Amino acid sequence: MTQLTFYGGVAEIGGNKILLEDRDARIWLDMGAPFSLGEEYFGENLGPRGRFGLRDYFALDLIPRIPGLYSEEALARTDFPYRASAFSAALITHVHFDHTNHLQWVDPDLPVHLGEGTRTILESWGTTSPSMDVGEHPFRTFHTGDTPTIDGLEVEPIHVDHSAPAAYGYLIHTSEGTVAYTGDLRRHGPLGRMTDEFIEAAADARPAALITEGVPLSWIVDVPVGHPAFTAVQEAALDGRLDPAKLGMHACRLPAATARGLGIGEVLEPG
Ligand SMILES: [Zn+2]
Repeated sequence: MTQLTFYGGVAEIGGNKILLEDRDARIWLDMGAPFSLGEEYFGENLGPRGRFGLRDYFALDLIPRIPGLYSEEALARTDFPYRASAFSAALITHVHFDHTNHLQWVDPDLPVHLGEGTRTILESWGTTSPSMDVGEHPFRTFHTGDTPTIDGLEVEPIHVDHSAPAAYGYLIHTSEGTVAYTGDLRRHGPLGRMTDEFIEAAADARPAALITEGVPLSWIVDVPVGHPAFTAVQEAALDGRLDPAKLGMHACRLPAATARGLGIGEVLEPG
């Protein structure tokens, strides 16, 4: 039997954490933190105690207790016993916090599949922003066209356009049909054709299930590659005015914003 269990990402923004089980495979789709995590308890000067790992998160029911998912280190100061990894892999759609940040708690033995570009940006974040460091994992990178098989399950990552570069959707060919998982995607961006390619492949596969989410639809990006705004952003990156970690996060928004006369700093540090 194929089974989907949603541990996050339902009726909230971000926090995607979806378990897909099919025969021998137990695969996580994303491992993100919701944007609202702990906001009813914590504020600017009060947060979960990092040295206690998951203890405060469990005490406040902010993160689900899932046997065989978390690292020994994350559980050491909790009352939840460590169990060796009980899962096949995690599949990451793209680098954004709400799809990756809880990898920091995950058992370091769990293989993490992600696009080559996503791996590069994650590494940059981990170096420049400690709160974004998701730790060491057996990273397995792919490009569009690769079809890794994970515990007997064929997985087909296909590029999509999103404000994060190197974003992917997945077609997962289970014993009961294809599950299409979009991650975040848009058709109105400069690489919207990539999203169309994902949609076409998903339609061809006639999926038994579709898991999708909405992203802001009002952001109109109409700046073609080669526009002077792209050049301005490239030059800012080259002469060190852009933090590469933030550039990775907002790469597709920058040219559109600078074309509208916004300063690069205004985009990277909004509000
Ligand atoms: Zn995103």
